[in-house]
Amino acid sequence: MQTSIQVGRIIGIPIRLHFTFLFILFGIIYGFATLPATEYRIPMGLGGIEMDTFFRYFLSSIAAVLFFFTLLLHELSHSYVAMKFGTKIHGITLFFFGGVAMMEDIPKNPDKEWRIAIAGPLMSIALGGLFLLAYFGIKTLNLAVYRPVEILVFTLGFLNVALAFFNLIPAFPMDGGRVFRAFLAKRMPFLKATKRAVLVGKIFAVVMAVGGFIVDPFTFILTGEIITGNIWFPLLATFLYIAATEEENATITFSSLEGIKVKHVMRTERTSVPEDMPIVELVNKMLEEKTAEYAVVSENGELKGFITFDEIKKLSAEQRYRLKVSDVINSFDRMSEVISQEEEAAEALKRMMRNKRKVLAVEDTITGSIVGLITRRDLAMFMEMLKGRG
Ligand SMILES: [Zn+2]
Repeated sequence: MQTSIQVGRIIGIPIRLHFTFLFILFGIIYGFATLPATEYRIPMGLGGIEMDTFFRYFLSSIAAVLFFFTLLLHELSHSYVAMKFGTKIHGITLFFFGGVAMMEDIPKNPDKEWRIAIAGPLMSIALGGLFLLAYFGIKTLNLAVYRPVEILVFTLGFLNVALAFFNLIPAFPMDGGRVFRAFLAKRMPFLKATKRAVLVGKIFAVVMAVGGFIVDPFTFILTGEIITGNIWFPLLATFLYIAATEEENATITFSSLEGIKVKHVMRTERTSVPEDMPIVELVNKMLEEKTAEYAVVSENGELKGFITFDEIKKLSAEQRYRLKVSDVINSFDRMSEVISQEEEAAEALKRMMRNKRKVLAVEDTITGSIVGLITRRDLAMFMEMLKGRG
């Protein structure tokens, strides 16, 4: 399911909006536009005139767009530093709980990781500072006509500073959690450091869910009032808990594959089928060989693509009799779907996850010929066995 749309590209990085981000935008627009009418009174003439609805929504929309850009700048800062260290950035996606910069390979080097992690909060503090300065500037002008602008600028300043401090909490998956892991990783193995930082993250998520529900911290900081029952914090905490768990699992997965090469996991038999094979025959072959993924080769042995049982499942009985392998072949990209047998197995897994593929062809580094296949299924089984080895 397509849940996000690309809205542009900055310094070569695709920028995507997740549909949940729209909730935040509309939340900000609605929140501003429906502030008490007194906040929008322009003091002209007797008692002043009230700002009309159109102008209110216009102003709130500006606030929402500005907020979008500050969030984007936060993520771009992470990305910029990561790119300086040679990491490829696949894109930035803005979700309802913030942004995520998808990086090819977050460096396991602690000195790089903490610098990438800290760049975002530093940007948010700088932006927040600028907005707050602007707020005090407007305030000293003391023109009531600017009151709505004042509120807008103050809120943006507050949100950015809050975002920075929130992100500096040393709990995964917040930026502070990454800084914390980098700190630990200088003193212990990467996996152990991750597990500790994740544990802190999980504890924090639970505290936030419960604490935030009992006392809404934003309202408390801004007004000193104690408001109970803010559902946003348990909701946000749930996302953070899941993200922390995922980080832990990914790290466990990838560190279990350390030192394992593609050639150790690849399959060298039951690897290919000819492109003119009828689908019925292929299904029989799959049953016989208990294999669900094949490379498809032409008559002269050239790799044409892949076929897996997933494609066959979608076909009707009639289609299975009528069609050939070449009719339902998976389009294939040599750059990302052929991997050298000397490459790390973890890299193969990453590529399959990134391209949503279940199989890659393995080539001999010297001759360039296809020597086997590596599949998600085989990798998963291999990793299970590695775990069993203790
Ligand atoms: Zn960040």
